[in-house]
Amino acid sequence: TEGDPVQSALPPDPFPQLPSDLATLDARGITAWFGDHQVLDRVSLTMPAGEVTALIGPSGCGKSTFLRILNRMHELVPSASLAGEVLLDGVDIYDTGRKLTEARRDIGMVFQKPNPFPAMSIYDNVIAGLRLTGIRASRDEKDYLVERSLASAGLWKEVKDRLRQPGGGLSGGQQQRLCIARSLAVKPKVLLMDEPCSALDPTSTRVIEETMGELQKEVTIVIVTHNMQQAQRVSQQCAFFLASQGQPGHIVEHGDTAAMFDSPIDPRTYDYVNGRF
Ligand code: ADP
Ligand code: MG
Repeated sequence: TEGDPVQSALPPDPFPQLPSDLATLDARGITAWFGDHQVLDRVSLTMPAGEVTALIGPSGCGKSTFLRILNRMHELVPSASLAGEVLLDGVDIYDTGRKLTEARRDIGMVFQKPNPFPAMSIYDNVIAGLRLTGIRASRDEKDYLVERSLASAGLWKEVKDRLRQPGGGLSGGQQQRLCIARSLAVKPKVLLMDEPCSALDPTSTRVIEETMGELQKEVTIVIVTHNMQQAQRVSQQCAFFLASQGQPGHIVEHGDTAAMFDSPIDPRTYDYVNGRF
């Protein structure tokens, strides 16, 4: 009837104790080393709530390292160290008073190679992160999260009748969407995607790109991509990383994606986005 909100296919969220508000991620002066090899130099970037930020640049310029710093995976490498800070809505994710699991829950990651637990059911794959991040959920809550997360990842319709089958039986593109659903199930505020489509065929790539347009309404997205068309299709903001002439990785230029592709300020950005290196 008139004035009613648009009806969702899903019931109201029965699991509101988990936060899912959009948040801005702010990296300030990130400098990183592996041993005494410096790989990033004072990288500062604001990744605004509700937007997709694309990180572009040649191989080896530190994009993956930067992404791993954004969810505290960098520190898993014994030789790794860093300076600078990462703020999620103003709260330092490296604050020693905060639990690591909390930072990990807030900031999910999807990798180039889809990595579902192959022998685990599709259903159990989606909720695998709950136990890992210490979230308790009833059967009904799990059912809801599985449907909601798979729907957000654009996979629900394809798998709803085979949730008990192993995740490893899905196609590569479906496995990647399953991994996205697994990240979403813990209601992250930010989703980091490291070349999520590089191992996928063009059709699967297109499906994931379309999904991202909806996803960014519920989660802030940072994507590393070598595909300049993809960067233009999915992102609103873009940052060009470069490591050159013995210089560690740094941001040459960042800003509005369309502007950066139409009229880059730095000649090196121009050359890169036009496929010159
Ligand atoms: P990109 O993702 O842009 O290709 P990376 O972040 O993977 O770049 O790598 C940046 C630099 O850090 C490279 O010189 C790479 O060799 C180095 N590096 C990456 N991971 C490690 C590691 N675990 N140990 C030592 N050096 C590493
Ligand atoms: Mg990389």
